[in-house]
Amino acid sequence: MDFNLSMEQEILRNSVRQFAEKEIRPVARQLDEKEEFSYDTMRKMGELGLFGMFVSEKYGGQGMDYISYIIATEEIARIDGSHAATIAAGNSLGIGPLYYFGNEDQKKKYLPKLCTGETLWAFGLTEPNAGSDASNSQTTAVLDGDEWVLNGSKIFITNGSADITAGATVLCKTGTRPDGRPELSCILVESGTPGFETRTMHGKMVWRASNTSELYFSDCRVPKTNLLGLRGNGFHQMMQTLDGGRLSIGAMGLGGAQGSYDLAMKYGHERVQFDQPIIQFQVNAFKMADMALEIECARLLLYKACWLRDNNKPFGKEAAMAKLYCSEVMGRCADHAVQLHGGYGLMKEYNVERFYRDQKLLTIGEGTSEVQRLVISRLIGCYN
Ligand SMILES: Cc1cc2nc3c(=O)[nH]c(=O)nc-3n(C[C@H](O)[C@H](O)[C@H](O)COP(=O)(O)OP(=O)(O)OC[C@H]3O[C@@H](n4cnc5c(N)ncnc54)[C@H](O)[C@@H]3O)c2cc1C
Repeated sequence: MDFNLSMEQEILRNSVRQFAEKEIRPVARQLDEKEEFSYDTMRKMGELGLFGMFVSEKYGGQGMDYISYIIATEEIARIDGSHAATIAAGNSLGIGPLYYFGNEDQKKKYLPKLCTGETLWAFGLTEPNAGSDASNSQTTAVLDGDEWVLNGSKIFITNGSADITAGATVLCKTGTRPDGRPELSCILVESGTPGFETRTMHGKMVWRASNTSELYFSDCRVPKTNLLGLRGNGFHQMMQTLDGGRLSIGAMGLGGAQGSYDLAMKYGHERVQFDQPIIQFQVNAFKMADMALEIECARLLLYKACWLRDNNKPFGKEAAMAKLYCSEVMGRCADHAVQLHGGYGLMKEYNVERFYRDQKLLTIGEGTSEVQRLVISRLIGCYN
């Protein structure tokens, strides 16, 4: 076994960490308070090469391995969940399906601008009545001559309505299979297509500076060629995309846990009560020890899942485990960190309250913790 990161991966970690400290930390709290998606930091993240990280250079990507992408996401999440969400959704959910299932024309058309961060692409799976039960999609696409006609809606879609959103991959019911089950296919819909409207969702507790949207399709016509991959393969494509996406949610959990830990360590040394830095009270020092232990376990689990993926081995079970564990570790670390901050931890000025809020999305998005346990229990053979 070799637990060392390569020199390139270490350099990447350092440069993304410096970037996040310099460009994101100073603005994160204000953006969160104003519920504002920042086009300025988005542009800078694009310039740094944080989009299309695992995409081949042929399509304008960075041609890196998956673990490099995960390290970058972890480092951004160490400072701010909203920015990490923009990157994770942009790469795994936006770029991923186009890169892995798109034909040559689709890749050449969309990927170059997505890989520079000039544009974003959304992943339209969830519907008002199809969340965990994602195959219950009610959005329809009917073939009419050379066009698909879409009707329906999607909800909670990250990067769905930013000014630079170029379009969305939309899971639609395109027919009924011989066994009576729905035939589901993915269709690409470009922003600005007549009949396609988006609405930005406000009032989130989490990821307040990330763009979340509702998508509406009303007799929305797109060319027949906008089908992604094979007709009827849509649900499979979406689930495969989520396997990779779970690693990036894991990275957000790991980074957020590390960020909470770092804030707690700093404050614990600075705050003096009973003539002693509070971190030296054993109960607090033990809490820090527990956090360090869980973060280490989370990192090993997540990086192992990435290693499996990078080495073309099955990684679905490990991805679900890493997503589940890293997100729950962040919940525990953020809770400990707020506790260690006492009353100050409840004030926005101390940033740790943002971590406390943002962690909650991670046990819900891209498959809830209950769904991860369902996936894992199936894969370890509980229901054979
Ligand atoms: C900020 C944000 C961003 C998001 N981004 C995207 C995106 O980009 N694209 C996208 O398609 N979706 C996105 N989502 C949607 C997200 O993936 C769903 O919210 C999530 O899958 C859960 O679905 P739901 O909210 O409908 O909850 P439900 O499925 O209604 O679940 C409610 C509760 O019931 C539990 N439950 C459901 N089924 C079972 C079961 N079989 N066994 C045990 N418990 C069960 C769940 O675990 C949960 O606790 C986003 C959501 C948010 C909040």
